[in-house]
Amino acid sequence: MLKSTKKSNKIYLDYASATPLDMEVLRVMNMSLKNNFANSSSIHESGLKIKKFLDNARKSVANILGAHANEIIFTSGSTESNNLAILGLINAEEINDFLGPRKGVSQTLKNHSLLPHLVITNIEHASVLELCKYLEKTKRAEVTYVEVEKNGIVNPQKIKKAIKKNTILISVMYANNEIGTIQPIREIAKEIRHFNKLNNKHIAFHTDATQAINYLKINVEKLGVDLFSFNSAKIYGSKGVGVLFKRRNISLDSILKGGEQEFNLRPGTENVPLIIGLARALEITEKIKNQEVKRLTQLQNYFFKKLLNLNSQITINGSLDKRLPNNINITIPKIPSDLLVIELSARGIMASAKSACKSGDGKVSYVIKAINPEISETDGSIRFSLGRDTKKEHIDFTIKSLQEILIKLKKWYN
Ligand code: PLP
Repeated sequence: MLKSTKKSNKIYLDYASATPLDMEVLRVMNMSLKNNFANSSSIHESGLKIKKFLDNARKSVANILGAHANEIIFTSGSTESNNLAILGLINAEEINDFLGPRKGVSQTLKNHSLLPHLVITNIEHASVLELCKYLEKTKRAEVTYVEVEKNGIVNPQKIKKAIKKNTILISVMYANNEIGTIQPIREIAKEIRHFNKLNNKHIAFHTDATQAINYLKINVEKLGVDLFSFNSAKIYGSKGVGVLFKRRNISLDSILKGGEQEFNLRPGTENVPLIIGLARALEITEKIKNQEVKRLTQLQNYFFKKLLNLNSQITINGSLDKRLPNNINITIPKIPSDLLVIELSARGIMASAKSACKSGDGKVSYVIKAINPEISETDGSIRFSLGRDTKKEHIDFTIKSLQEILIKLKKWYN
């Protein structure tokens, strides 16, 4: 199904940054790229044909998420989905305030001249964290950053405690992109639902499921979320396409202005070939999820055991049990992360120091700092993320290479 990464003699252990294209996904995208060139908004025969493909892709995604088709909004990826969820809600809140009284949070804000309040964790992806900082800076929102525990997991009670009378949204990522820790989304959703019921509030709950989508349960009803983001780039589909699930009773206002596509929430001509690819990629991911989780958990345990035997100073970052099966994140004292990445790359092994969009800046990752505030700037962390092509021999070669690197670099750093 997949083109082997071994062909190029490279060992690719960076699936959390990007996955290779599944060949079946490439096939359906290719067919669509060749044949489906008409605009899905055109009302002539060719346009209607494309619209049918788009509708089918939407239905398939909705079916897998346990949602309605009109709750699925196609975007350019998770950054946009996260921005649409958060900024779209702020926009809608501001418009409601402007247009006049409305029951719920808006009225509270108006009566007390309060800014909308958001609750997030301190290890969210940059597309949530930086947006929230920007909204604070521009005085469009007040934000509480709830700290995760030392194991990289947030306590739902701390989320609940952070709620204020002007809270409109809570956003907690399903699984972290650097340390793979899985957040208690169902428990948090339960707390929010309970709070909303008791206080007659309408606080929305968003989760960024970009890293979780491959391995965890994704029924939005069972999870209890109102907004749910992911992209196709992490499920062996194309980059540049993603989804925001938005529950019917949640009001968003678009962040881009223009046409009426995607239920008035995402103007611009839909990229139907990429969307068809996303739907197919999600179908395949769901089909092989259980077997992949089982296989990768075995490889992950093997990797951890080998790493701990390799050097007693190596520590594992984040919870061991509430963790994605493909994530291995370790700290090696006194060796900078970027140097480790370069040394591994020179031996044909592709790994990451941190999130791809923050790599190469020489600083300790904010996620690692959040779980280990005492970490020194000279202590390096590295993330190996496994995927569909990963085999035991890739791990053996990586351990052997790490051993060589440690021997070589210890001479300089000790
Ligand atoms: N959220 C998480 C958890 C991610 O890992 C990523 C990308 O790696 C994103 C959001 C951003 O996704 P995109 O590149 O599709 O905008």
